[in-house]
Amino acid sequence: MLRLDSDVQYVKGVGPRRAGLLASRDIRTVQDLLLHLPKSYQDRAHFIPLSGLKIGQDAAVHARVYRSRVIQTRTRGRILDVILTDGSSFVHAKWFHGAYLQTREFSAGREVVLFGRVDFDRYESKFVFFNPEFELLDEGKDSASLDIGRYVPVYEEVGGITSRQLRHIIAAALADSAKDINDPLPEEILEAHGLPDLRTCLERVHFPEPDDELTKLNQRRSPYHRRLIFEEFFLLELIFALRRIQSRSREGVRFETSERIRQQVKMILPFHPTAAQKRVLKEIVDDLKAPYPMVRLLQGDVGSGKTIVAFEAIVIAVSNGYQAALMAPTEILAEQHFLNAKRILAPLNYRIAVVRRGTKKAEKQELLEKIASGEIQVIVGTHALLEERTLFKSLGMVIIDEQHRFGVVQRLQLMAKGENPNTLVMTATPIPRTLAMTLYGDLDLSVIDQMPPGRSPIRTVHVMERDAEHIYEMIRGELKQGHQAYVVYPVIEESEKIDLKSATEGFKKLSAIFAGYRVALLHGRLKSEQKEQTMAAFAAGESHVLVSTTVIEVGVDVANATIMLIQHAERFGLAQLHQLRGRVGRGAQQSLCILMTPNRINDVARERIRAMVSSTDGFRLAEVDLQLRGPGEMAGTRQSGIPEFRVANLMTDGELLSLAQQEAQRWADRSEERGRLIEALSGKARLVTVG
Ligand code: ADP
Ligand code: MG
Repeated sequence: MLRLDSDVQYVKGVGPRRAGLLASRDIRTVQDLLLHLPKSYQDRAHFIPLSGLKIGQDAAVHARVYRSRVIQTRTRGRILDVILTDGSSFVHAKWFHGAYLQTREFSAGREVVLFGRVDFDRYESKFVFFNPEFELLDEGKDSASLDIGRYVPVYEEVGGITSRQLRHIIAAALADSAKDINDPLPEEILEAHGLPDLRTCLERVHFPEPDDELTKLNQRRSPYHRRLIFEEFFLLELIFALRRIQSRSREGVRFETSERIRQQVKMILPFHPTAAQKRVLKEIVDDLKAPYPMVRLLQGDVGSGKTIVAFEAIVIAVSNGYQAALMAPTEILAEQHFLNAKRILAPLNYRIAVVRRGTKKAEKQELLEKIASGEIQVIVGTHALLEERTLFKSLGMVIIDEQHRFGVVQRLQLMAKGENPNTLVMTATPIPRTLAMTLYGDLDLSVIDQMPPGRSPIRTVHVMERDAEHIYEMIRGELKQGHQAYVVYPVIEESEKIDLKSATEGFKKLSAIFAGYRVALLHGRLKSEQKEQTMAAFAAGESHVLVSTTVIEVGVDVANATIMLIQHAERFGLAQLHQLRGRVGRGAQQSLCILMTPNRINDVARERIRAMVSSTDGFRLAEVDLQLRGPGEMAGTRQSGIPEFRVANLMTDGELLSLAQQEAQRWADRSEERGRLIEALSGKARLVTVG
């Protein structure tokens, strides 16, 4: 008798060799195998007799091979031509380039099932299937009932194991495994949402019955599919919900917000906050006053004004006698935050420092001592903050900017430098709701969904390289009005060297084209000091055109820059383009973003560019990005911590995810159920492994 966690090699028909092949696709246990769901289903209950075929019809036929041969043609290469009969009539099936299909296999008398569109062969005036899907059946096997006379599952091949072989293996696994599988989902939830029990789902999702709806099965909308998808989401969301409850039960740093402190927060405000900024600040303050540590994600589109909110949180921490750390993913951004901190916090006379990579040893030592003694109150830096020797006296507030550039581990590392410090992570890359729920499900969410007043929207256009001259003319026009320009070149990791060359050459070329103006070059390989100087000069208006790689993607804030040219825009992802574009349109003047591409680009790139031209809404673009690229790539692959789902699909199953989140939260809150749930989660009946 098999169990769900039995090694897949013990399933009848598998064995060590096939187990190796299955392992290549992470199928190691019976459970993994049962969650390798069919990619589609075929109706093999209703075969059409060959005498009844009609041209243009999609048909399933069941027949025997009458004769087969390979025809050598001049224009089409080798064609496999098989004549089939079912006693009522004959039909041809032809596979182009079909020489790999052995005529030997299509030996006379062999039973075959075919699917495809019925066509008419003008040369032979006969009915024919061109390149149909097919399956050769084994003679006289009792298991033939799996392959015909019903809705039949079709699987994606795994390491050369065919769909039909998988069908038989999976049937064997179901037949030999225990009937009473311990169902991890609470009965009440199953009933409330009309979801069948686990055993039923596993059986019917592979071997549907006549009254199951074929279309629903094929769209993964059958109750069996829905339940399996729901379960996968539910278990993940349950873990998040339990973590949230756990983190709320911890003793955190608790801040006061007296009248004096409120005055100090007001003192640093250079402008009236937007309604969204006020709302978010209140959410933060409520967390800070509470006994548990804050763990909050602040989402807000590029330029929505997250920085000032972060500084307000810092003021609350420092005026309560704690230290605050602000971590940014790049040196440029860290420097920018450092400058901002000095400027914005100036009225309060805080002791502020930045931890740099290039700092001399002695100086660094002194700095670290001042941090450890608590003398420095606000510490800004990159990953350098995570170094072991960076110790704090009383870290009460952790702020991580552009969280999507860091992994979860890094967030936790910085948090570990205080005792349950309050944590605010910020991201300007709008994440579709579904992705946020799976990536950051254990964080509370605040959103700034409003832009500061007085911005005129950025215009975006798509141009081809052949229009370059005209574009340079436009840029010159802006420069003449005293404005500044960005020209961005891609640096994609795989081809970093070549890319960098193109930015450097671009810089030379543009220096000539914009003779009379100062053109500067910025890229990641420059020393921090050089980067800083270059940025400072551009911010001060001393240089006019900044030729750059994507290092300017985040945080750079120069209101007088009104035009951006992005070279090879087709090579950037949507999120990145949106981030880059956010560098302009920071002042009151009308800004322009020009996406330049080669004259020909592929369809996906074209979709991206089209989306950019038609929308400036980061959240909308994020949805488009998710559809175009899929969740894994969008979130920046594995290290970002996005769980890999076996059955669920974030792009299509968002509705079930929301339901699962609601239910998980409700169940986690019911304390008498918590114990049972945790047990179920860690128990052997668990279907899904979550990281
Ligand atoms: P981001 O959310 O991308 O980090 P920033 O915090 O850098 O955005 O803000 C972008 C710009 O908008 C900055 O120049 C900032 O000073 C300005 N800003 C932010 N909030 C307001 C506001 N309420 N009113 C006017 N300007 C604001
Ligand atoms: Mg920012």
